[in-house]
Amino acid sequence: MSSFDQLNQGYQNFRTGAYSQDAEAYRALGETGQAPHTIVISCCDSRVNPTVIFDAAPGELFIVRSVANLVPPADPDGHHHGTDAALEFGVTGLNIPNIMVLGHAKCGGISAFLGSFDEKENDPSYVGSWVSILDGVDKESFCPDDDTPQDEQQRNLEQVAVKRSLENLMSFDFVAERVAAGTLTLHGAYFDIAKGEVHYLDQETGKFAAL
Ligand SMILES: [Zn+2]
Repeated sequence: MSSFDQLNQGYQNFRTGAYSQDAEAYRALGETGQAPHTIVISCCDSRVNPTVIFDAAPGELFIVRSVANLVPPADPDGHHHGTDAALEFGVTGLNIPNIMVLGHAKCGGISAFLGSFDEKENDPSYVGSWVSILDGVDKESFCPDDDTPQDEQQRNLEQVAVKRSLENLMSFDFVAERVAAGTLTLHGAYFDIAKGEVHYLDQETGKFAAL
């Protein structure tokens, strides 16, 4: 089966399955608009599907996908900022009351950053430039000693990246103001693909624990 045939077959399944079972809900959503309860900032990785992981119906999650689920610091320079535009719309346009940054295991974006960590010059590619959002992370935070195995460094850095994105979220005035007013709550989480487990970040201790 070609890739397009796969898409088309899936679409036909959707029409006869999920859509026909929930046609009324789709009609209502199409007519009244969306009121999602959570913005999920997740990686583009095809193995990480917030709708599936959180068993969410259409209209529940406003999903912002970025390489390595990174949020850049606020930088209103008039250039094109896809992640920031999506966040701004979700927070100020839709008044969504929760943002969850969802990191994940075996992240290619994190792996790219880790692979070039000790190089002096930044990789000028789009991915290299994007993951440089992590520049300045303390090596100790993901590699506490020289014997730290590579896969452990990777996992640690994936979790550090969630915290970096949460910090950067607070650099946007429209986020910080709503957090201070108690109308917006930030969450950090991490998806272990192989185990199908979500680990939730305790923002007081900085530790992730299985939900
Ligand atoms: Zn990823």
